[in-house]
Formats: sequence, structure tokens, C-alpha cells
Amino acid sequence: MRPLNDYLNSFLFTELLRGLRLTARHMFLRRSITLEFPEERAPKSPRFRGHLALRRYPNGEERCIACKLCEAVCPALAITIDSHQRADGTRRTTRYDIDMFKCIYCGFCEESCPVDSIVLTRLDTYHMESRHERIADKQKLLAMGDKYESQLAADRAADAPYR
Ligand code: SF4
Ligand code: SF4
Repeated sequence: MRPLNDYLNSFLFTELLRGLRLTARHMFLRRSITLEFPEERAPKSPRFRGHLALRRYPNGEERCIACKLCEAVCPALAITIDSHQRADGTRRTTRYDIDMFKCIYCGFCEESCPVDSIVLTRLDTYHMESRHERIADKQKLLAMGDKYESQLAADRAADAPYR
């Protein structure tokens, strides 16, 4: 019986028709699973780990208290911090550098920070034009935090119940 079926299948092109039906179903009925990057972007989780940033409080004061926990916990030794004590007794950084070539986006710095200062943004596309630009200094990180603050605050609020 089987040889007869095989003979009929090859004679009637049933396998070819089955293949064409599958192709047509994907062409006309299924939603495309590819995206037209960069105009279209895949949705990102609130926990997405992109470019690093330093946040401020709503009054403009920088959050970082120069405790250096992030520097100590960074497995890639990417963070370098210098600090000083201000006249009011609080401590702040005079230098906060992250070597973006060394960073492995593990998020340990963010998890260790007691004041939600160092965070990872959703920014996943950026470039550098020379080697020295690999160092993201304090001003650049604060500017990044200022730019994405509303998104950063919303992401942390959405994620708070799971932390
Ligand atoms: S994300 Fe990880 S590797 Fe990058 S600076 Fe933070 S702790 Fe270091
Ligand atoms: S970013 Fe956070 S963990 Fe790092 S030194 Fe500042 S306060 Fe401490």
C-alpha cells in the first residue's frame, strides 16, 4: 500500500502543494516576527540593563553619597571614585568614572547602591568615536540620568513590588 501512496503523492505533487500552503500561510496570514530596526524596537523590560547613569533627587541634589559600594562590588573593576567631605559634613564624589569598555552590564552596582544613584538605563544603542570616550565621567553620567529620569523613575516604581 505504501509504494502506491508514495507513487500517488509524487504524481499529484501533494508534498509540493503542502509546502506552498505553508509558505502562503506565513506570507499572508502570520504576523511578521522581524522588526524594521531602528524605526521599530522590541519592547524592553523595566529591568533592562543598558548604558549607566547617575540620578539626582527632585531638588537637583545628586543622590550619590560616595560610599563606594558600587566600586567595591564591580566585578570588572570598571568604576573609579574619588570623594571629599563638604562643609556641611556630607560626602560627595569629586570623580566618578566608568570604563564602558570594561563594563559587562551585570547590574551589581545598581543593586548595591543604597540610594538608587547608579542605575542602568534602557539605552542600548550608543557609540564612541575615539578610545578616550570609553570613560563615562560624572558629568556625562549625571546628564544621562537627567535625560532619562522620568523613565528611570517609572521603571523602578513598576519593578518595586518584585524587589
Ligand atoms: S554594570 Fe557591572 S560591570 Fe558595569 S559598572 Fe556596574 S557592576 Fe561594574
Ligand atoms: S553610586 Fe551608590 S553605591 Fe556608588 S558610591 Fe554612590 S551612593 Fe555609593
